[in-house]
Amino acid sequence: MSYEFIYFDLDDTLLDHKSAEAAGLKDVHDDFDLFEDVSAEQLIDVYHQVNSRQWRLYSQAKVSREELQRNRFELTLQELGLNASRYEEVGNHYMQCYRNHWQWVDGAKEAYYEILEKYPVGILTNGFAETQRKKFEAFDLYNSAQTTVISEEVGVLKPHPDVFSHATELAGVNSNNILYVGDSFSSDVEGGTKFGWNVAWFTENGEPEKHKKADFVFNNFIDLKHLLKI
Ligand SMILES: [Mg+2]
Repeated sequence: MSYEFIYFDLDDTLLDHKSAEAAGLKDVHDDFDLFEDVSAEQLIDVYHQVNSRQWRLYSQAKVSREELQRNRFELTLQELGLNASRYEEVGNHYMQCYRNHWQWVDGAKEAYYEILEKYPVGILTNGFAETQRKKFEAFDLYNSAQTTVISEEVGVLKPHPDVFSHATELAGVNSNNILYVGDSFSSDVEGGTKFGWNVAWFTENGEPEKHKKADFVFNNFIDLKHLLKI
């Protein structure tokens, strides 16, 4: 297979979103007296459940972005038995704390820059446009990548085919010459392969049935470099 363009997912592929999220929530927990009777682990746990439910509803267009941003903190506070009317200050503080903890996934920065020397590269990400744009700036991705696609700007989220169609047009190559590197099975592996892209799945997941759906599975960026003969 000859790849003519490499697209990367952003969160939990190039950048370690999960750790930044947990560290940001830990800061929020420590900065508000509101949380004195719950542990940081409880807050993180409940937030994860609420947030993933809200993102699912958002991707099905059942809640708006504003509702998602509000609900994920309002419902978390509610479920913890705390004063839910403070969702806005908690949510705003979280976004500031979250930003302080952004960093590359282990090995991703080196791989990204080495791949850039050999292939045209793009970024394709779900997530809030405003937040993702700040990540592009903070990690110099606007300058280094040839294309940057945020699904919110397209109007639908991965795995919707319109996102992949738009990204393919911007890349200017055929869909079967694109390799997508991503960590999400539903958004990246299923979404990408359905559109005819090749997908390298970055995961620790051990389910063979799921592995079969991806063209390549890896959990260390050195293996991705080998695939790309770097
Ligand atoms: Mg991801």
